[in-house]
Amino acid sequence: MKHAAEAAGPATGTAAATETHCPYCALQCGMALRVSGPGAGDAAGVEVVERASFPVNRGALCGKGRTAPEVLRTGVRLTAPLVRTDGVLREAEWSEALDRVARGFATVQSTYGRDAAGIFGGGGLTNEKAYLLGKFARVVLGTSNIDYNGRFCMSSAAAAHRKAFGVDRGLPFPLEDVARTGCAIVVGSNLADTMPPALRYLTELKENGGSLVVVDPRRTRTAEQATLHLQPLPGTDLALALGLLHLVIADGHVDEDFVAERTTGFAAARAAAMAHWPERVERITGVPVPEMRRAVELFAGAATGMVLTARGPEQQSKGTDTVGAWINLCLATGKAGRPLSGYGCLTGQGNGQGGREHGQKADQLPGYRSITDPADRAHVAAVWGVDPDSLPGPGRSAYELLDVLGSEVRALLVMGSNPVVSAPRAAHVTDRLRSLDFLVVSDVVLSETAELADVVLPSAQWAEETGTTTNLEGRVILRQAALTPPRGVRSDLFTLHELASRMGVTFGFPTDAETVFDELRAASSGGQADYAGITYDRIRREDGVFWPCPDEAHPGTPRLFLDRFATPDGRARFVDVSHRPAAEEPDADYPLYLTTGRVLAQYQSGAQTRRVAELNAAEPGPFVELHPQLADRLGVADGELLAVTSRRGRAVAPAKVSTAIRRDTVFMPFHWGGAGRANSLTNPALDPTSKMPEFKVCAVRVERAGAADLAANGTGGRS
Ligand code: SF4
Repeated sequence: MKHAAEAAGPATGTAAATETHCPYCALQCGMALRVSGPGAGDAAGVEVVERASFPVNRGALCGKGRTAPEVLRTGVRLTAPLVRTDGVLREAEWSEALDRVARGFATVQSTYGRDAAGIFGGGGLTNEKAYLLGKFARVVLGTSNIDYNGRFCMSSAAAAHRKAFGVDRGLPFPLEDVARTGCAIVVGSNLADTMPPALRYLTELKENGGSLVVVDPRRTRTAEQATLHLQPLPGTDLALALGLLHLVIADGHVDEDFVAERTTGFAAARAAAMAHWPERVERITGVPVPEMRRAVELFAGAATGMVLTARGPEQQSKGTDTVGAWINLCLATGKAGRPLSGYGCLTGQGNGQGGREHGQKADQLPGYRSITDPADRAHVAAVWGVDPDSLPGPGRSAYELLDVLGSEVRALLVMGSNPVVSAPRAAHVTDRLRSLDFLVVSDVVLSETAELADVVLPSAQWAEETGTTTNLEGRVILRQAALTPPRGVRSDLFTLHELASRMGVTFGFPTDAETVFDELRAASSGGQADYAGITYDRIRREDGVFWPCPDEAHPGTPRLFLDRFATPDGRARFVDVSHRPAAEEPDADYPLYLTTGRVLAQYQSGAQTRRVAELNAAEPGPFVELHPQLADRLGVADGELLAVTSRRGRAVAPAKVSTAIRRDTVFMPFHWGGAGRANSLTNPALDPTSKMPEFKVCAVRVERAGAADLAANGTGGRS
């Protein structure tokens, strides 16, 4: 493997390693890569080297990051474009594949109109790719139909953040602050599995005398670390937050000065909370009143405190309101807009933060600008050199877009996403993808979605290309190329440049990442997510730069809201919300709750991590976690194959009997396709504000698998 020209920066103990970041989750752990060996496709020649100087993970990596070079191997990844001929995907030259893509979109748009072309992006794309993809949709295709899988990740937290604080940045403080706060309430996050190096911030918090409250229907490895674990029914986090606020008010813990000086809307929020008295909330959530009282003592009794949410409360059809209720708790106790206090979202995907800031979301232009605001449209249009009136308006959200494939949207470009596995009601989504006139997928491997495509474009990977991401703290960081990709593989920037050119736009789609980033800086300048002062050189020198950073003399903003919130009047806003049930509750036909989530050794749809032998050995397939009492009632033993049925589909996977889960709930990880696909079951009921589907709760029936299930699954138990 050759060193890339821009390889730079010594790592610990070596002058030859290139500093970069893990390709997976939003922690974006720093690492360095030392490359030796004969040529592209030789993962054995890529060594991960500790990069202890990077402050977020201080050298620590989980197994996913440590083994990430495995996916660089040529036996695992795509190394040539694929074009479907007579129903079969065959290898092709890039020119043939790109010509076919351009023709496919042109044919559909000339027949059905511009909005018949759609784009489905990804929260793992670099800022440069996300930015250029949004520009491609609006300038080249002229379609409003662009959204991305990040909509399935943290969109409810983003919406709640904007409502309460006026701007959405996952964490308004660096992670190091978590270790020094007085009490952290972590709601619906199992970061011990999803981002293990971050667990040390919670253990340090406890070592420093602080307390940790974990809210989760499962006793996860994170919950095991807690001072107090609250185990509510799936879908009742909103009621729990209201119940805690009720106790805060009733017990005299409201910070009246803070509420008066820095917030608005408390009266309505207080009235809503008072209607959720503790005994009522216990009946809704299953959390005993004494445990609620203990949580309030810990949180309200601490001088500083934080609430951190993740997918648990967010992936609900009331996710925005749920997060808002937890923010209310912070505001009422004066634990926001002050040092070592506040609300934060533990973003999931690698560039879940940056990916939502720069234009691949249906309603946004770069820099968090609004696609409906005339001034915002004019600013971005000027940077792009186009007429503002030529820019389309807002399009459909992710699930809404997938739901109209084959009817209102007839051609789709998927970049860095695998909705066949990761979308809710996945069998329906798969049918919709199959019904398209034309599907093109750009990815590093032949994912389940790529298998359906008319054209597959093999894209370069994290270690092979330079670009920025923005981690969960709002820290803009730089992945630097350490090696060149195999012959036959190209960057997504090249793909967009070539497609734009074939579709008649011969300017404005550079292939050099730093050139794209400089344009992104200009497009974001003056917006909420202002990157104007961030340069590649600064990122290298400063271990990342926090936005907003409006000019090169600006130090960046690690901590938001200390003086004022980002609302027009500078005050944070309480929300007036009340409990309501999940869109689908258990009944006689479907008597159990299903909740879905992740495991330590796999990432997202598993497209990459399922191809890593060590990770597969650790976590080889899906399972159905259920309580021993439920297993007894069903008459099933650990490892026995179960069929789980919802109103949307059926999934088959082995039983994993565990006391970690509630008796009325089963859990399935969602990293696998095929017969054990958890998302065959999940409910696409959408949050009305964020358009987040309700991945975290639906009603199911569980039974022993039958002969047909066994045949479909191809296994008799957990392997
Ligand atoms: Fe990569 Fe996340 Fe693991 Fe860090 S915690 S090594 S970023 S997957």
